[in-house]
Amino acid sequence: MKIRVNHSKIELVKGDITESNTDAIVNAANAQLILGAGVAGAIRSKGGPSIQEECNAIGHCPVGGAVITGGGNLKARHVIHAVGPRQGEGDEVTKLKNATLNSLKVAKENKLKSITFPAISTGVYGFPIDACARIMLTTAKTYLSGPTIIKRVVFALFDETSFKAFEDQIKTLK
Ligand code: ADP
Repeated sequence: MKIRVNHSKIELVKGDITESNTDAIVNAANAQLILGAGVAGAIRSKGGPSIQEECNAIGHCPVGGAVITGGGNLKARHVIHAVGPRQGEGDEVTKLKNATLNSLKVAKENKLKSITFPAISTGVYGFPIDACARIMLTTAKTYLSGPTIIKRVVFALFDETSFKAFEDQIKTLK
């Protein structure tokens, strides 16, 4: 499933984000930048130890922020570590929007043309998938509506439920 926004595309794919060959993949990170379970665990095991080492050198990232490292042995040359909110901590919508937007800004600053996101905060952090789909897709679409070098924004959805939630939301984007 794809939509065109200006001169760019938003694409939905089902599957493992570590298989993505975009310039960067986004990690659903925590503020300590410790690669634990979920997306981070898959990145750690496929990408090798250099990613955690680079994260350690950076040290910390606030909720709603994003930082970049190399991609180690991944197909993607870079990993952008975006820190989403934990459900219940407050101000989740703004924080998830900022995590998405700051990832796109970091991609742009590093002259990257394509990026793949997971459904940030919807795993261990417990944020509802429908709201996540709405916030992340709207943020990506608004960003791509302005001048940008980013050509492809991909969302890699791990299971059928997440894919369906994003598919339903993308159809409602105007
Ligand atoms: P968070 O701590 O931000 O909730 P998680 O990594 O636990 O992050 O989960 C975020 C989302 O990514 C969840 O919907 C989860 O099912 C999904 N996910 C887990 N592993 C992968 C993977 N390898 N590729 C794509 N999505 C994944």
